[in-house]
Amino acid sequence: MLNIVLFGPPGAGKGTQSEKLIEKYNLTHLSTGDLFRKHLGEGTDLGKLARKYMDEGRLVPDEVVIGMVEDKIKETKSGNGFIFDGFPRTVAQASALDKVLEDLSLKISGMIALDVPEDILKERIRERGKTSGRVDDQDESKIETRIKVYLDETLPVAGYYKGQGKLTKIHGVGTIDEIFDNIAKVVDQY
Ligand code: AMP
Repeated sequence: MLNIVLFGPPGAGKGTQSEKLIEKYNLTHLSTGDLFRKHLGEGTDLGKLARKYMDEGRLVPDEVVIGMVEDKIKETKSGNGFIFDGFPRTVAQASALDKVLEDLSLKISGMIALDVPEDILKERIRERGKTSGRVDDQDESKIETRIKVYLDETLPVAGYYKGQGKLTKIHGVGTIDEIFDNIAKVVDQY
């Protein structure tokens, strides 16, 4: 099985590249942002709880995220593996994920980290905000908060996988297909 962590700051292109990876390798998409937005749309208690954090661009507490991911992994029966998009976002989430997978005799194949300069990230997020309807894509201070949270809380997750010899960095600027080709070369080595 292929279990890939697609990593990078907000606006790095994780969602776009995930779609292409899913198609090529027949993976199950596990985007915690998408799962929270689904709960939000359905008005569940989890959605209401997450909204407070999401609207501000802050992280939803680890135990909430981990519980949701664990349920999703356990309810997914078939497929070639998972693509984790926007998760894990803290070292605590990364080590909890390792435990959940280990219990199922699974493991992370590798992390692919998309590298994109901050000015391009902000431009992409603002552009996406015109059509995504996402509150957190439209407000300059929320965009700033998300990038700061990424640098402070999420970047150490790359170190976690580097320590396991599983980190590959990919330049995340160029055409979607160019970037995807570089990602696929890495995945083909797993
Ligand atoms: P995303 O769609 O991945 O940019 O996520 C949107 C928002 O959902 C984030 O700004 C967080 O508020 C929340 N979120 C998504 N994934 C996580 C996660 N793994 N840990 C904590 N909060 C998350």
